[in-house]
Amino acid sequence: MNADYHLHTPLCRHATGTPSDYAAAALARGFTEIGFADHNPMPEPFDDWRMTIDELPRYVQSVEEARRAHPECVIRLGLECDFIPGYEWWIEKLAAMAEWDYLIGSVHYIAPGWDVDNPRWIGKFREHPVAEIWALYWKAYEACIRSGLFDFVAHPDLVKKFGHRPAGDLRPYYEGSVAALAAKGVPFEINTAGLRKDVREMYPAKEFLAMAFEAGAPLLINSDAHSPEEVGRDFDKAVALAREAGYRRTLRFQGRRSSPVPI
Ligand code: ZN
Ligand code: FE
Ligand code: FE
Ligand code: ZN
Repeated sequence: MNADYHLHTPLCRHATGTPSDYAAAALARGFTEIGFADHNPMPEPFDDWRMTIDELPRYVQSVEEARRAHPECVIRLGLECDFIPGYEWWIEKLAAMAEWDYLIGSVHYIAPGWDVDNPRWIGKFREHPVAEIWALYWKAYEACIRSGLFDFVAHPDLVKKFGHRPAGDLRPYYEGSVAALAAKGVPFEINTAGLRKDVREMYPAKEFLAMAFEAGAPLLINSDAHSPEEVGRDFDKAVALAREAGYRRTLRFQGRRSSPVPI
């Protein structure tokens, strides 16, 4: 059975259900291991979709409460960290603030104040050529991988969320990031949340997955659940896609160390 390591909590202001609710939902669906990865706090007021630094102890506490309420479920503590150039120091600080099982690296911001998956900025896809936005995104994603700050990276081609994709073969966009995954030994996730967005496709695309397998990059499968009903959502499809690409193993994390398990 897979683990689902990318679960949010209400502290990010756009998710529902306590960690204990997620654990109950996971157990009901046959999962025996899950992990939380809510959006990281920033050192100063930043945006409206993450916990504040004062709320970090409450986050850790809520995960501990879920562990106590559901001892039959292994519950890991993680964090989904925005990779933002200039804030590397802050990720290093955060890394020492709790007993993390893993830190996930994400790219939502492709320029200051522009979180590319935020519907608020959807108009930017009309103001700029899609190819230009994609180039910005993939440059940031490669830098996120190369930073060496994260145990794995999230939703590789998030930039397609609203369905904007340049015409033609997209593989050239993936090349730098896939090479970085291989060079740095950084795993990535299949994130099933894309199926629930306008693009109606998991992150990453099949072609990315094939290239990543070829390059030897390890894989995880996660739901990015923002409500208990979404825990483990579409894992059957993700497993099928992973196997099609050649993958037979995924990873478990504890104390920021990974170990392989069969898919
Ligand atoms: Zn979120
Ligand atoms: Fe994310
Ligand atoms: Fe997430
Ligand atoms: Zn995410």
